[in-house]
Amino acid sequence: MKYRKFGGVFLIRLMKGEEVIKSLTDFSAKNKISLASFSGIGAVQKAEIGFYELKNKKYLWKKINEEMEVLSIIGNVSSLDKKPFIHAHIVLADRNFRAYGGHLKEAVVGATLEIVLLKVKGKVERKFDEEIGLNLMDL
Ligand code: ZN
Repeated sequence: MKYRKFGGVFLIRLMKGEEVIKSLTDFSAKNKISLASFSGIGAVQKAEIGFYELKNKKYLWKKINEEMEVLSIIGNVSSLDKKPFIHAHIVLADRNFRAYGGHLKEAVVGATLEIVLLKVKGKVERKFDEEIGLNLMDL
């Protein structure tokens, strides 16, 4: 990973082979980022995406083991158990220009992944919501 900081804005370039969620979690911890929004574009070699079925309170997971363009990754950083927590959604496109999208569990970077992260002053902790079955922002 390479990055540069411009005020509260970080330009981040993830490198081939790096895991997206893990890298952004480690980056947030190292840079004391507890609240942020981010977006990006690039490519991945593989990814696992999910669809949350509210009635069963479970994710349906899909693994994609091929090179895909990242048409869009968008997400936020908040805190879970006082550690940075990344919530990201992604839209991917394959070589036939078909798009897939969902909640991003993890992905491995292909050619590059360019992220713009906007740090926000403050902290929002996530709390488990029994009705929904997820750790939601406690605002
Ligand atoms: Zn999600």
